[in-house]
Amino acid sequence: MKNILEKAEINHNLNKDEIIKLLSSNDISLFSFADEIRKKYKGDSIHIRGLVEFSNICKRNCYYCGLRCENKKIKRYRLTSNEIKECGQYAVKLGYKTIVLQSGEDDYFDADKICKIIEELKKYNLAVTLSIGERTFEEYKAFKDSGADRYLLRIETTDENLYKTLHPNMNFKNRIKCLKDLKQLGYETGTGCLVGLPNQTIESLANDILFFKELNADMVGIGPFIPHPNTPLANNKTNNFNLSIKVMAITRLLLPDINIPATTAMETLNKNGHIIALQSGANVLMLNITPQTYKKNYEIYPDKAGINNNEDENKKLIYDKIKSINRSISNSYGFRQD
Ligand code: SAM
Ligand code: SF4
Repeated sequence: MKNILEKAEINHNLNKDEIIKLLSSNDISLFSFADEIRKKYKGDSIHIRGLVEFSNICKRNCYYCGLRCENKKIKRYRLTSNEIKECGQYAVKLGYKTIVLQSGEDDYFDADKICKIIEELKKYNLAVTLSIGERTFEEYKAFKDSGADRYLLRIETTDENLYKTLHPNMNFKNRIKCLKDLKQLGYETGTGCLVGLPNQTIESLANDILFFKELNADMVGIGPFIPHPNTPLANNKTNNFNLSIKVMAITRLLLPDINIPATTAMETLNKNGHIIALQSGANVLMLNITPQTYKKNYEIYPDKAGINNNEDENKKLIYDKIKSINRSISNSYGFRQD
């Protein structure tokens, strides 16, 4: 273990066997190691992103997700362009430098509508991150030309067979193409995976980490899979928290200068999830600023952390936690090279 960590510290490269050893070990020195690398490359300040979940309407049917189109039990909503603009104003008021626009794959928001929204938000000098799923190269280009800075699209799993079983009518090769298109267009490109999916192996998680490295992802978000009762995976209950923290920490070893969020799914599974993640390689937090009336209906998985707090309460809670571990809030946009 020690040899592997020392090797990672020197050249930020590990082979698949070494990653599998780290994932299989219970040696907690991995986490302090990842924390030191985070400190060396990213410093102690944490970048806050304001997250707006602007539509829970989705044409896809991913087996794990509560927003899948076959889930008839959720109340669907869309924010108006004006409401999204107000979220932008609110993000500025809270002092956030980035707004993340996330939604299901909702074709109502065509390229034209998304471009207009981006142009409005750029007037507030916000960095704009999109997380709206698979689109064509031309659409990604139009968003970029309108001012979008970053794009999040998790590969979810690099195991093509597993990908197929979980994503009906979707195409693994197209997902990879989307990520390459985003890179080519100059987006800061984020990807990531779900941890603890049924039939997912440790080897497949090691491949996921190698994929992040090969893509040279600028951001990587790791989500422990949390079963949603109204999905085909409702009964796949396991606590994937520890394994997801390991995947995240190893990602930090291999990609020392990227942005890595402490994810909401981690906080949902462990009441100290954010703090543990921030002390194991993470340097970003995404705080939900979706209007309270809509928030509860963006139910990807149940009992999402922070769902009942308003934005100010959430902000205070998190800022107190950040102070308690002697970290600070960044004033910069938090691009990879900042
Ligand atoms: N529709 C876009 C997409 O799929 O890229 C963005 C929204 S989607 C809700 C954002 C992320 O939620 C997905 O990338 C997936 O990893 C995560 N997610 C969905 N269902 C989940 C679950 N049951 N547990 C944990 N994360 C989940
Ligand atoms: Fe839709 Fe994204 Fe959920 Fe899949 S993960 S069902 S694309 S919102």
